[in-house]
Amino acid sequence: MNIITKDRSIYAMCATNPPVLTVAAGSRVVFETRDAFGDQIKSETDAFDGLDWERINPATGPLYVEGAEVGDVLAVTIEKIEIADKGVVVCGKGMGTLGHLFDDAHIKILPIVDDRVIFSDEITFPINKMIGVIGTAPDPAVGAISSGTPCAHGGNLDCKKIAEGATLMLPVNVPGALLAMGDLHAAMADGEIGVSGLEVAGRVTVTVDVLKSANLPTPMLRNDTHIMTLASHEDLDIAVDMAVENMAKYLMSDRGMTLADATMLISLTGNVRICQVVDPKKTIRVEMRL
Ligand code: CA
Repeated sequence: MNIITKDRSIYAMCATNPPVLTVAAGSRVVFETRDAFGDQIKSETDAFDGLDWERINPATGPLYVEGAEVGDVLAVTIEKIEIADKGVVVCGKGMGTLGHLFDDAHIKILPIVDDRVIFSDEITFPINKMIGVIGTAPDPAVGAISSGTPCAHGGNLDCKKIAEGATLMLPVNVPGALLAMGDLHAAMADGEIGVSGLEVAGRVTVTVDVLKSANLPTPMLRNDTHIMTLASHEDLDIAVDMAVENMAKYLMSDRGMTLADATMLISLTGNVRICQVVDPKKTIRVEMRL
């Protein structure tokens, strides 16, 4: 079995990261992952200030996929996400949408029982397992991008649709693509407004394929029912424009539509959704039924 253990992690995606495993296109690979805090938070009374911030958002990898050349698309099919039996959620001063209302930081460690999150004695809800950080090496001209930041190469997209059964299409900017991932969430809602999901350690089983000359406006996501374009920008309005334009490009290039028809169809059936509003760049997706 091809497996990359969680001690093989990076904190920035970069063309010069040495690969830790090389596989042929079409291979199945298991990525073991630490949680977004590098598994540092062990109890609800841990001092948040005591965290080693150099160890935040570890991404396991990178993986070199043979045959992936610059200009291709890497298709990552998420077959299985296995998660630990508890997760960490935080909020507090300076963090997320309500960070200005806090004077301190708060930590909860929540059990996960029978695929439900035990939030309190009164409140439980179903898990929605997903991958927060997943990406390839960015264009070498861009340099390194922190694994906490989403961008055209993927990264910290925090999109709840990056889940079991979905295929994420990422750009190949360097030979081998250099795929890395981490930051699993047992649960997260669109927005991730408090700055964290229910952060869990775990392992992800994926199959990696190379699409030659695919000419797709990456990152794109496909699941059983929808095709989605994703875009990230510091300004949420601009992220919306980017994601919509990418969907229009896809409908024109892949489906042969005119700009007018693509625009009308997106306007009538394409839902513009927020993935997250709390990372250094905010992420939008446009969802269209297949
Ligand atoms: Ca994240």
